[in-house]
Order: sequence, then structure tokens, then C-alpha cells
Amino acid sequence: SVPAAMASGLSAGARRGLLIKGGAALEEIGAARTVAFDKTGTLTEGQPRVTDILPAPGFSGDEVLALAAGAEQGSSHPLAKAVMAEAEARGIAAPAAASHGAIPGRAVTATVDGREVSVGSPRHAAEAGAALGALSEAIPQLEAEGKTAVVVVADGAAAGVLALRDEPRADAASGVAALSRLGVRSVMLTGDNARTGAAIGRHIGLEVKAGLLPQDKLREIAALRSSGAVVMVGDGINDAPALAAASVGVAMGGGTDVALETAQAAVLKDRTTGIAELVSLSRATMANVK
Ligand code: ADP
Ligand code: MG
Repeated sequence: SVPAAMASGLSAGARRGLLIKGGAALEEIGAARTVAFDKTGTLTEGQPRVTDILPAPGFSGDEVLALAAGAEQGSSHPLAKAVMAEAEARGIAAPAAASHGAIPGRAVTATVDGREVSVGSPRHAAEAGAALGALSEAIPQLEAEGKTAVVVVADGAAAGVLALRDEPRADAASGVAALSRLGVRSVMLTGDNARTGAAIGRHIGLEVKAGLLPQDKLREIAALRSSGAVVMVGDGINDAPALAAASVGVAMGGGTDVALETAQAAVLKDRTTGIAELVSLSRATMANVK
């Protein structure tokens, strides 16, 4: 019977760490034409590390890091955790800071040691009117290495640049290749800039849509849905709306509770290859139903 075939599909998934919330999701995953992946924490480890510190004239590297740590304090963004970890590793105490704010997909802001500080994308710094001087030449080079460059701005002037690298997951390329063998297209959606995104996309072997603000990700998913069902895979920091906008949202197991609540399926243990397994399981189950 149909319910029996579905129930056995759901339990076969559960045995392999593929949790699916009901028959409708199980059916739709196998019909996916496109899988859209969030980058940070989904195709990458989600644990960036600070690799370079480039102070602007008049600042030391430690001063740049201290200002950044003051502003990133209390943020749960992976870039914030990396900045805090680097400051701690260098024995730099985050200075007193207040009025913390976040501009999703762009920057964090705070008053640090009496200065108005932001840490965010080069685009954010440019739009805030901070001149980068010689630093602007270093940024494209860092990005071509797959690093994310963030600019520390203090009282409207660039204090320095931090570069961070988040390594692709060991099984990201094989997970994308497995989807390709099933005839499913993979796309990476990222708030990172185009150069960083392209470097990581080349490494993993998939198309990239970069420079996306949270609302742009929703628009991309809607556009992809016009040519068939779309599975969105995310780990949660800011991904819940994108998961909800897809035909089926899939959370990576290490993700946040909000992602797990919003998603219709989850892959435990963060295996990228689990997405292709979900597609295969869905198709095998539907073949039994028909
Ligand atoms: P992703 O889509 O890769 O998960 P986000 O949308 O979270 O990235 O962020 C996009 C960009 O905004 C980052 O690459 C960075 O330049 C900037 N940004 C966002 N949050 C922060 C933060 N807490 N600290 C520094 N930069 C940030
Ligand atoms: Mg993210």
C-alpha cells in the first residue's frame, strides 16, 4: 500500500541519519531539479579562521583585532566567532563595547572604546564612505584565495582588513558530484562576494550566486522554482527564510534549532552526500508506490 511504502521509506532514511518529516516531503525531494546550498556551515565547515590582518596606516594589527573583537562580541555569526577566537589566541581582551547591532548579510556595529566601529563586507565599508586606500588592492587578492575579507571601520575611516578562510567540507565535492549523476543541478547561494564565492565554487565544482543579501536568496530560490522543484540546504544562521521558500528545506544536522524546525528534512552528521541519498531514497520509494 501507499502508506506502507512511504513508512518504509521514512524508516529506511532514519536508519541512515536522513530524517524526513512526512510523506509529502519524501515525495517532493526526488522530483528536485535543483539543489540550492547555503555556503557557510553547509558546503564549508562553518568554522572560519583569521588568516591575515592588514592594518591601515596608524594602526597596529592588534589594535585592528581588538576593535573588531569589541564589535563582534556577542554575535553568533561564524565570522564573529573566528574574530573572538583569534583575539583570545593572541591574548587580546575585547575592549568595553556597547550598542551592538547587526546588519544581516553586511556587518556588525558597536561603540567600542568610545568609537563607532563596524566590521563587515568591503561593500558595506564603501557604502559607509570609508576610504580603503592601499588596502583596496589587497582585498581582491585575498578573495581570489577563497578568503572572506572584512573591513574594520572606526569613526568612518578604515582601520584595517581581516581575512578569514572557511574550508570546504571534505565531502562537499563528492556530494555535488553525486547529485549531478542523478541529473540534479547544484547551486551555491552566498552572501560572500563574487571572487570568494567563485574560488570556493571552483574547488567544490558547482555554480555560484554570490553577493546575495538575505532577501536576494529568497528571490533566487523563487526564480529557480520556476523551472522545477528546488531543495534548499542550510545550517541555519539566517537560513530559515530560505529553507521555507524552497519546495523542500533540508537542514544540516549540526545546524541551529530554528533551521531544524523550519526544514522538512534533516541530514544528521552534516554529510553533504546525504542530499543525493535523500533524492535516491525518494525516487526508490515513489517507484514502490506506483
Ligand atoms: P553567507 O551567505 O556566506 O552565510 P552572510 O550572509 O552571513 O554570509 O554574510 C555576508 C557577508 O556580510 C560576509 O561575507 C561579511 O562580509 C559580512 N558580514 C555579515 N555578518 C558579519 C559579521 N558578524 N562580521 C563581519 N562581517 C559580516
Ligand atoms: Mg550563512
